[in-house]
Amino acid sequence: MAETINFIEKIIIDDLEKGRIKNNKIVTRFPPEPNGYLHIGHIKSICLNFGLAKKYNGVCHLRFDDTNPEKEDKEYIESIKSNIKWLGFDWGKNEYYASDYYDKLYSIAVHLIEKGLAYVDGQTPEEVKANRGTLTEPGINSPDRDRSVSENLRLFNEMKEGLHPEGKYLLRAKLDMSSPNINMRDPALYRIKYAVHPRTGDKWCIYPMYDFTHPISDAIEGITHSLCTLEFEDHRPAYDWACSIDEIEHTPHQYEFARLNISYTVMSKRKLLNLVKLGLVSGWDDPRMPTISGIIRRGYSPESMIDFINKIGIAKVESVVDFSLMEFCVRDDLNKRATRIMAVLDPVKLIIDNYPEDKTEYFELTDNPEDPDSEKHLISFSRELFIEREDFMEEPIKGYHRLYIGNEVRLKSAYYVTAISIKKDTDGKITEIHALYDPESRGGETPDKRKVKGTSHWVNAKDSLNAEIRLYDKLFKNPNPGEKTGNYLDDLNENSLKILENAKIETFVTKSKSKYFQFIRNGYFTPDKDSTPSKLIYNRTVTLKDSWAKIKAKN
Ligand code: ATP
Ligand code: MG
Repeated sequence: MAETINFIEKIIIDDLEKGRIKNNKIVTRFPPEPNGYLHIGHIKSICLNFGLAKKYNGVCHLRFDDTNPEKEDKEYIESIKSNIKWLGFDWGKNEYYASDYYDKLYSIAVHLIEKGLAYVDGQTPEEVKANRGTLTEPGINSPDRDRSVSENLRLFNEMKEGLHPEGKYLLRAKLDMSSPNINMRDPALYRIKYAVHPRTGDKWCIYPMYDFTHPISDAIEGITHSLCTLEFEDHRPAYDWACSIDEIEHTPHQYEFARLNISYTVMSKRKLLNLVKLGLVSGWDDPRMPTISGIIRRGYSPESMIDFINKIGIAKVESVVDFSLMEFCVRDDLNKRATRIMAVLDPVKLIIDNYPEDKTEYFELTDNPEDPDSEKHLISFSRELFIEREDFMEEPIKGYHRLYIGNEVRLKSAYYVTAISIKKDTDGKITEIHALYDPESRGGETPDKRKVKGTSHWVNAKDSLNAEIRLYDKLFKNPNPGEKTGNYLDDLNENSLKILENAKIETFVTKSKSKYFQFIRNGYFTPDKDSTPSKLIYNRTVTLKDSWAKIKAKN
């Protein structure tokens, strides 16, 4: 595939060619707010920021934007770091926290006051809001706008010293209350907040606002290209204003790109936190969650996600990416790497009456037929096997080519068998299927080359492992959750998890070094993090069926 150069990359190439970048070294940053786990949308930002730095010999900083102490948590910081590493990116020593810059930000704020460029506003939060104006009407100047420098310094210091309650005062930049851009109407720089910060503890009871903190953090770190999502486009003038403050030596530039949205998925940390808090999922890493921790547990590989991000590209137009495109990438990747295993999810016994009772023989299974250098492993076979319950029908419907009384099928890699009788329990449920095998068909073909239409996978009853299997479906039923009622929870798919407690798996599954498996005919699976040798648990990562290919074929 030809390499595509996105619009941000074009800017970087141009900047480098024209010598606009100090030392010719670009510096980007990924700036998560540690108020939740990262989601798939963040992967786009991570791949972009770390990817560009890598490609153009620059560096990418990891900066925690931790200016909202109430919602932040150390657990989130740790999960974010481990998720980025999982994707294969490395920030080296460049781990920063906006809170590291609190002293610097405070002194810049004081300078702004001294120069008459900032003031302490005593309007109530309601008044501030009402006087901000609207998209069509200008704002109204605060009565405190012309407070003297000394008065402003005194009040700002009192704010810092904790002499005023929350909401009493705001420090605001003195810009232009009639600006057509609302973000330029005297933006707030500092607010009072009595919260213990995960890193600075109770040192501060005033906290800097995002529009003040972010550009200055970028400038302090020497960021050259500050990449963010489109909703910050209207904030760019405020960003540029902050970077133009006298105390600031380096001027970074902000560029915006479209967020990643995926159908049947919500990707706001607030909404995801809500699912966790309400107990609608088992946690941030529930395999149905679109969090990075969730998809790791689900069995997605980092390579498949990077491939997905590359496929969708970077643009400036909002769009919704089809969930099935993501699954296509996951499937495509797993097809190349997954170890093939025989596993029967819903087992029923198959007894081969003419097979010797004490005999065991072994068949070879190729670990991965997609890999020419693949290893092989042995699977044992004996008189009593398990096959899928749905691979037998007592009264076959038209076109059913699997096992039924009198019909012959192939047991994958083993023998041809013909069903002869069944046994049922008192509820009428089939407990045993009896069959006869053709010894001549060893390996799955006969000397007379006769054809059978059905092939069943199987495991050896006395040499297999019990496992719990978790089958997942989409977390939401509607491509745009909440579209009809405004509440995304109304579209929750109540059938998004199905547990099968009685699956039987060939023993090689615990001996293999891989964590990516294809259970033949059943999909791709990975061991769950709670799986133990005494209780095996496997998650279905994705089914084998490829609905994306169908969508593509239709278009
Ligand atoms: P959310 O709204 O989902 O809670 P956020 O934007 O508040 O996300 P941050 O922690 O502030 O989350 O995001 C860190 C970086 O990731 C920011 O640069 C942000 O623009 C980017 N980002 C967040 N969501 C997406 C997305 N869906 N697609 C691409 N980039 C994203
Ligand atoms: Mg945010």
